[in-house]
Amino acid sequence: MAMSVINPATEETMQTFETLSAVELEERLDWAATTFATYRRTDFATRATWMRAAGEILDRDCDTIARMMTTEMGKTFVAAQAEARKCAVACRYYAEQAAGFLADEPADAAAVGARQAFARYEPLGPVLAVMPWNFPLWQVMRFAAPALMAGNVGLLKHASNVPQTALFLQDLFVEAGFPDGAFQTLLIGADQVEGVLRDRRVEAATLTGSLPAGRSVGSIAGGEIKTTVLELGGSDAFIVMPSADLGRAAAVATTSRCQNNGQSCISAKRFIVHQAVAADFQQRFVAQMAALRVGDPMNTDTDVGPLATAAGRDDVEALVRDAVERGARVLCGGHRPDRPGWYYPPTVITDITPAMRMYHEEVFGPVAQLYRVHSIDEAVALANDTDFGLGSNAWTDDPAEQDRFVRDLEAGAVFVNGMTTSYPELPFGGVKTSGYGRELSRHGIREFCNLKTVWIGAESRRSETVTETE
Ligand code: NAP
Repeated sequence: MAMSVINPATEETMQTFETLSAVELEERLDWAATTFATYRRTDFATRATWMRAAGEILDRDCDTIARMMTTEMGKTFVAAQAEARKCAVACRYYAEQAAGFLADEPADAAAVGARQAFARYEPLGPVLAVMPWNFPLWQVMRFAAPALMAGNVGLLKHASNVPQTALFLQDLFVEAGFPDGAFQTLLIGADQVEGVLRDRRVEAATLTGSLPAGRSVGSIAGGEIKTTVLELGGSDAFIVMPSADLGRAAAVATTSRCQNNGQSCISAKRFIVHQAVAADFQQRFVAQMAALRVGDPMNTDTDVGPLATAAGRDDVEALVRDAVERGARVLCGGHRPDRPGWYYPPTVITDITPAMRMYHEEVFGPVAQLYRVHSIDEAVALANDTDFGLGSNAWTDDPAEQDRFVRDLEAGAVFVNGMTTSYPELPFGGVKTSGYGRELSRHGIREFCNLKTVWIGAESRRSETVTETE
C-alpha cells in the first residue's frame, strides 16, 4: 500500500511512500524491544541532553519544518512555525522537569515495617502512538517528549496523509542523539494497528483522533490488558454572559473557531450567548468571521487555509447541508468556493435544534454554531448536552458565575476569559467520549510508567516472620 502527500491547497500529489511490509514491521518491533532493554537504563541527565538538542533542531529548522507541514496538511505557514516552536518549548520543559516528576516517592517505612519504602516510576516499554494530522508535530511531541524522557521507546503510527512529518520526527530524535530505535516511525495503515497493539513487545498505546478510532484501539488494548490514553474529539462550548467584554470575547471566539483552519479538537464549536448581549455579540462575531482572509496557506497574511483532506471538507459540507435542510440559518459563509483546493469559508450558523446532526456531532472545520440562552442554568445545561467533554470556555466577570462554570461544566478543562489551549505545564485530556487519561504536565509523563512499590526490610537474617495478608 502507498501513502501519498497531497497538497490540500492545490490537490497535487507531491510524493508517495510505501508502507512497511509484514516482515519489515516484525523487524521494527524486534528492534524496539532490544532498544528498550538498554535505553531504559540511560539516566535522566543523558536523555535531557538529547531532548534539549531536539528542541534546538526544531528552532533551527523551524521554517523548513513549517513549510513541510503546510504543504502536507494545509495549516497556515505562520501557524506551522508557531507549532514547531511550541514543540521546542515542550522538549525543553520535559528535559528540565522529567527527573523531578519521576523522582522516587518516599513512604513511611516504619508504618509498613520496612527499613526503607518508596514508590518508583519505571518505564513500561515500547509504546504505540496513533496520531492525527491536524497538529502533525505537536500531537506527536506531547506524547514523545515525556515518553522518551521516562525511558520508554516510542512507536509512531501517524495519520496516512502526513508521512513526511512522520519520517521527519524519527530523523529529529536520531539527530538529537537518541539511540537508533528509541523513536521509530512505522509507516503503516490503520488496518495494521491491531496487529501491533496485540503484539507482546508493545506494552501500551496512546491514540489521538476520532471516536471510532478510539473505540477500536481502546477495546483491543482493553482485551490485551494494556494501558491506554485516548484523546478524542470535542464540541466545546464557548459561553458569553452579560458582564463579559464582548469585543475580546468575539475576537477570541473567531480565533478559537478558525485556528488551524477550524480543525482543532479544542476549538470552541458551540457559541452559547446570553440573550441580553446576543445581538451585539452576533454582530461582532459574524463581522469578524466574514472578514477572515481565506487563501494560500503559505501567504503570511492568510488567516484560513484549506481543510486537510477532500473527505474532511465533504463531512463539513454534509453537516451544514443537514442543518440548513432542517431549518438552520447561515449568517455568513456556508458554501465551498469555486477554486482548486479543499477550502471551506468561515461560517456562522444559528437556529440549531437537536434534530440536526451538528447539535450532536463534532464539526471539524471553520463552522460556528450560535445559540441564545436566557439564564446561566440554560447555558450550563446546553453546554453539557453533548457526549463530548474536552474543553470549555466561559466569558464573565462575575465571580459567582465563574465559580458555577468551573464547578458545573462537564469537561477536561475550563478556561475563563481566555482561549482554551494546551500548555506543557497543564494537564490535557477529556471526559465522556472525549477520552481518558492525561497528556502534558507531571500527569502526562506518569501515564506510561509502572509505579513500582519498593519495600526493603532489615537484613534477611534478622527479618521477623509476618502473617500473610493480601
Ligand atoms: P482519525 O480518522 O481517527 O485518525 C487519527 C489516527 O487514527 C490516524 O493515524 C488514523 O490512521 C488512525 N486510525 C483511524 N481509524 C483507526 C482504527 N480503526 N484503528 C486504528 N487506528 C485508526 O481522526 P481524524 O479524523 O484524522 O482526526 C480528527 C479527529 O481527531 C477529530 O475528532 C479531533 O477532534 C480529534 N483530535 C483530538 C485531539 C485531542 O487531543 N483530544 C487532538 C487532535 C485531534 P489513518 O490516517 O491511516 O486512517
